[in-house]
Amino acid sequence: MNVVTRPRTAVIGSGFGGLALAIRLQSAGHDVTLLEKRDKPGGRAYVYEQDGFTFDGGPTVITDPGCLEELFALSGRRMSDYIEMLPVSPFYQLCWEDGFRFDYVNDQAALDAQIAAKSPADVEGYRRFLRYSEELLQEGYIKLGSKPFLDFASMVRVAPQLVRLRADRTVYGMVSRFIRNEHLRQAFSFHSLLVGGDPFATSSIYALIHALERRWGVWFPRGGTGALVRALVKLFEDLGGTIRCGAEVARIETQGPRATGIRCADGWHGQFDNVASNADVMHTYARLLEGTPRGQAAARKLARKRWSMSLFVIYFGLRGERRDLRHHMVLFGARYRELIREIFRGSALPEDFSLYLHAPSVTDPSLAPPGHSAYYVLSPVPHLGNAPIDWSVEGPRYRDRILDYLDERYIPGLKRDLVTSHILTPDGFRDDLNSHHGSAFSLEPVLTQSAFFRTHNRDDVIRNLYFVGAGTHPGAGVPGVVGSAKATAGLMLEGMP
Ligand SMILES: Cc1cc2nc3c(=O)[nH]c(=O)nc-3n(C[C@H](O)[C@H](O)[C@H](O)COP(=O)(O)OP(=O)(O)OC[C@H]3O[C@@H](n4cnc5c(N)ncnc54)[C@H](O)[C@@H]3O)c2cc1C
Repeated sequence: MNVVTRPRTAVIGSGFGGLALAIRLQSAGHDVTLLEKRDKPGGRAYVYEQDGFTFDGGPTVITDPGCLEELFALSGRRMSDYIEMLPVSPFYQLCWEDGFRFDYVNDQAALDAQIAAKSPADVEGYRRFLRYSEELLQEGYIKLGSKPFLDFASMVRVAPQLVRLRADRTVYGMVSRFIRNEHLRQAFSFHSLLVGGDPFATSSIYALIHALERRWGVWFPRGGTGALVRALVKLFEDLGGTIRCGAEVARIETQGPRATGIRCADGWHGQFDNVASNADVMHTYARLLEGTPRGQAAARKLARKRWSMSLFVIYFGLRGERRDLRHHMVLFGARYRELIREIFRGSALPEDFSLYLHAPSVTDPSLAPPGHSAYYVLSPVPHLGNAPIDWSVEGPRYRDRILDYLDERYIPGLKRDLVTSHILTPDGFRDDLNSHHGSAFSLEPVLTQSAFFRTHNRDDVIRNLYFVGAGTHPGAGVPGVVGSAKATAGLMLEGMP
């Protein structure tokens, strides 16, 4: 009798990428152990429970739900049996200090009317921009978003499309070719910030996010993003997978060009046929492979790369409900280009800020106690490698400045009605998530650090070591890391019956 042994696979880290990879491999017959450092799964989508409030720590704008549905369909299951997804409209409300507001909705007539009221000449330009964005979506996301780039030839093969779509230009540069009004240029170029990209430096390919939202909508899981994480964990466990939280991996063990096992900080040890890391790519090479020639060489190379900005986040709960707010609000400060330059390249905390305000109680009141509402507000800030700020001192001060600003302009009475709050600073990204420089989105998504030029989904030397998540192809954002899991799983399942 032939005994078929199932490959034993360790996945380090339970972010969306790690979870998606673990589900794909477990569905395909691997015996997967998911090892998570923190007490709860989710990574950047960690959930803070405080004084009766549920605060999603990170991702809140869920796009392309189809990429998540696929994970359930692999084993003939339905996502709707695990989680309810609620549509969000408007997708975002965009607000400027001069009082201009733009409801970014998925309705062509409503968009046209708002654009015409602001800048009639831009109605036609916007339509051309949307067509361009749809082409980018087709080429950059649908065709290439879940294909690994392991060799230079794979990059050469896509070069003609990249040239045709002007991937050498920036997001803001391309938007400006279609749209003249500065407010509208900001409205259609800020998206790359959501995945850690500077609109003035990142490739125009990232302008595909607009078409992605228009085509598949913006969604919010009932119970918050944390409920979506729990649904994925349940799916993984229903498939027979094992998850261990509070299991910080200290070492990937190797013998020559092969990973052989995992050792955790608490002494736990396991032998594996394959290892995949969803942890920060620098952490993986510099710490988990410390002292190996491969770890040292790769870490040295990563140290020369550009890292994405960090974030400062305030989670807060208020007495009362605020019906005038929208679920997702972008609050532009007075400066755009200059502020972004200081965030990505500056060596100090900028004086002013632009904010993203998350008001999930608008869609799902269950996230706050009755008669209360839950929020977070985030401000992009330089990472610790560029600006070594003492956040233990600056954090509380910065929090007060931001809350004062919100109280004055957008949520009158905020300080009076504040019942609970806590902050996440770049130190938290560094210490809780092992993120290099406290970056919130890993390697900066510029063309020279994308696809083949990003950490490969399979290591070049240790052939059974794989990567998944924001630091590998295609990059950050929930659809990005879920796409990276598809690319990585494809490599890991090559040759499986
Ligand atoms: C505040 C914020 C808001 C965001 N908003 C959105 C949004 O609205 N929409 C969107 O699409 N994207 C958003 N993003 C981006 C998105 O959240 C991330 O790109 C994505 O979730 C990263 O997933 P990942 O798979 O790379 O893993 P991560 O979430 O980075 O998880 C990695 C995991 O590895 C674990 N780990 C690290 N080291 C070890 C170790 N040694 N041993 C064991 N485990 C380890 C960590 O604890 C962590 O759980 C946001 C990000 C942030 C920070």
